[in-house]
Amino acid sequence: MAIIKVQKGTKDILPAEMSVWHFMEDTARKIFTGYGAKEIRTPIFEATELFARGVGDTTDIVNKEMYTFEKSERSLTLRPENTAGVVRAFIENGMHRLSAPVKLWYKGPMFRYERPQAGRQRQFHQVGVEVFGIKQPTADAEVILMAVNYLKALGLNDLSVELNSLGCPECRETFKTKLKAVIKPYLSELCPDCQARYEKNPLRLLDCKVEECKAIYAKPEIQEIIQSDFICEECAGHFNELKNYLNDLNINYSINKLLVRGLDYYNRTVFEIKSNNLGSQNAVCGGGRYDSLVRNLGGEDTPAIGFAMGMERLASLIGSKPENKTTAFVVCNQPTEAIKLTEELRSTGISAEFDLTNKKFVKQLEKASKVAKYALILGEDELASNLVTVKNLETSEQKTVSKKDLYNLL
Ligand code: ATP
Ligand code: MG
Repeated sequence: MAIIKVQKGTKDILPAEMSVWHFMEDTARKIFTGYGAKEIRTPIFEATELFARGVGDTTDIVNKEMYTFEKSERSLTLRPENTAGVVRAFIENGMHRLSAPVKLWYKGPMFRYERPQAGRQRQFHQVGVEVFGIKQPTADAEVILMAVNYLKALGLNDLSVELNSLGCPECRETFKTKLKAVIKPYLSELCPDCQARYEKNPLRLLDCKVEECKAIYAKPEIQEIIQSDFICEECAGHFNELKNYLNDLNINYSINKLLVRGLDYYNRTVFEIKSNNLGSQNAVCGGGRYDSLVRNLGGEDTPAIGFAMGMERLASLIGSKPENKTTAFVVCNQPTEAIKLTEELRSTGISAEFDLTNKKFVKQLEKASKVAKYALILGEDELASNLVTVKNLETSEQKTVSKKDLYNLL
């Protein structure tokens, strides 16, 4: 019979890879908890409207990449990202009443209908942080620190932080007008996506990956506008303060004026962290400030800033980690005795197994050396004297001890 295969753009995460995933998850819990963040888990599907309003209906994510389906005449969507869901939960649970800042972190699968390639899947995982309630740039600095220190704790170096300020809706409007004016003569030469962006979301023009468009945006008169300092005094003050904090904290960053990010909701600070060890999909982290999103989704006016990281991309940078072995494998030809000792060990929190098929002693020992750190040998002598022989399977050292000493030894 024909076998059914995993869907294009999705992957099994197999037991052999699980050490890396546990490492990423445990480190997230440890690092983010250190900043006072609490974990939140929101549903994997939400009302489609949440993403249309939250992510923005001029974005690629909403226009092309959503897995949307209908159930009982309701339009539902598998979450393509988690900020919108976390903001919905923040509003619905009245979290604005908690004392600010409210710091939340999450991890879990996201779904985007994209062209699968290295570092780009249709179901992938993100770990992220959202900090609510602080408008000062100290929050921006702290959120960037959280990201940088998480990546450091994963042992990742060779990363670069890119930073930009998108200003506020007011100063951005002036910039958009200037940008549109200088690009207008080239409008017919732009890719179809950019032609649509030109009217709907001109900032996103700068994000285009098409070479012909990039060449146009590299023209001196267009660069002059892009590289100009368009942001208003207040936004510039916020940005300068953030840069000063990062300088004081020795966080290296570079300013990238082309950094506009794919989502509509950002204002002021946006940032990305890139790895120099990944191919073309080299962004491991994207984030920014989104001061109007909570209000736009019907909540109280609440400033916020956050980031999300792609866990598959992190995993490929971390590389492989040795699989965790079972602590003890009980080698014994009397299944009842084997099961008793194994259960006793498990009840004290020591992972243990025995040979369910009751093979010959040597076979059991062979199996033990493959899967466990210690072989606990219960031969006839040991059973008669109520002792256990402990064999360290790495060093081959072996010792016969009482049950009590056994626990000390493990
Ligand atoms: P890209 O420019 O690579 O498409 P993005 O701007 O769409 O990224 P975000 O929405 O900011 O990405 O998501 C944050 C991070 O999630 C990215 O930096 C990346 O590491 C990861 N990511 C995004 N889309 C995918 C995907 N399809 N497969 C794997 N990881 C992804
Ligand atoms: Mg994308």
